[in-house]
Amino acid sequence: MDWSEDSVETRFVQPYEAVKLYVCPGCGRDIARGVGHVVAVPRLAPDLRRHWHKGCWNNRGNRPPVN
Ligand SMILES: [Zn+2]
Repeated sequence: MDWSEDSVETRFVQPYEAVKLYVCPGCGRDIARGVGHVVAVPRLAPDLRRHWHKGCWNNRGNRPPVN
C-alpha cells in the first residue's frame, strides 16, 4: 500500500468520534475507543482506508507499516 502524501486523503478523528476499536497498521496495536487518530483514505482505493495512531502516521516514513 502506498501511504505517501500524494496518494491518500487524511482526516483527523476526534476523540468523541472514535467509538470503535481499530488496529493501527503502523504498529499493529489497537487504537482504543475515545482516542483521536488519523484516517488515511487511498485516493484510488477508498475501501482500503485505515485508521492510524497520529504518531504512527507521522512517523510512517521512518517505520514501515506492519500490515
Ligand atoms: Zn500505531
